[in-house]
Amino acid sequence: MTETPDVTSPREVMALFKEYGLQPHKRLGQNFLIDGNTARKITAALEAGAGDAVVEVGPGAGALTVLLARSGVDLLALEVDRGLVMMLEKILEPWPKARVITQDALKVCWAELVRSNFGPTASVKLVSNLPYVISGPFMYSLFEAGFPFRSAVLMLQKEVAHRLVAEPGDSNYGALSVLSGYYTNGKVLFNVSNNVFWPRPKVGSSVLSLQPRKRILTADQEKLMWLIVQGVFQQRRKTMQNNLARLFPFFKTGVSTLLEAASINPLDRPEHLSASQFAKLVLIAYNYINKSS
Ligand code: SAM
Repeated sequence: MTETPDVTSPREVMALFKEYGLQPHKRLGQNFLIDGNTARKITAALEAGAGDAVVEVGPGAGALTVLLARSGVDLLALEVDRGLVMMLEKILEPWPKARVITQDALKVCWAELVRSNFGPTASVKLVSNLPYVISGPFMYSLFEAGFPFRSAVLMLQKEVAHRLVAEPGDSNYGALSVLSGYYTNGKVLFNVSNNVFWPRPKVGSSVLSLQPRKRILTADQEKLMWLIVQGVFQQRRKTMQNNLARLFPFFKTGVSTLLEAASINPLDRPEHLSASQFAKLVLIAYNYINKSS
């Protein structure tokens, strides 16, 4: 290969796939971006330049990867499909600061990956056109790791992107929205038509930016936050009082006192409470549990 192929041209991507004996795999959510403008809009939103450390998840045929490599960022791309990794290694040869490794992004210890690849004090940005099949578990894994990124720009299935930034009372507000609101400030930047992918997906996409938020809970308190948030949203139509009594039968009589102390109406439902209200409730519940044990 002499010249870098245009990896957003369907004709050139198909020719590369033929050369490397590759096929798009539905089970890996492989819908490749074949529109240079959209790729440029996404990488521009990341605001990363020469010397910035960037992790890309699922580089695929390299629509975002090549643009980032050209801009001189220190790039680590994680791709689960070995065939694509081989193809990308060749495409990325002109840019030694852009590396691609075979890695399942759902099996990563993010803190360790960042530390071992960029150093202990690195401040890393995250970018991805996320495979839809993993977007839920992937987002939970980022939050579980404490969202160890300076910022992120992610293309996601429209519904998931909107759920991540949903407000209390919205019909799509749920556990993922609360955790997202606790760990990050999110904003939907723009929507993307299904027509700019090969193969064309059935669902629409949105590009989302996420910035980490200052967290007020300790690691142990955050564990309690996950337990409470995931627990109460299993029965989102039940009142907070009934939900907490179900989750913590041992402090049944104290539930209304707890809710009162957190300024939460016991008859309110989980879907009406903000991330900050949940965090405040967790602080009070944590102290209560520790005092009574
Ligand atoms: N970034 C490319 C683009 O914009 O055209 C490809 C996006 S495609 C929607 C998602 C990519 O993620 C595919 O290349 C797929 O093989 C890869 N992928 C799927 N599951 C993955 C996982 N668990 N870890 C890492 N990559 C994954």
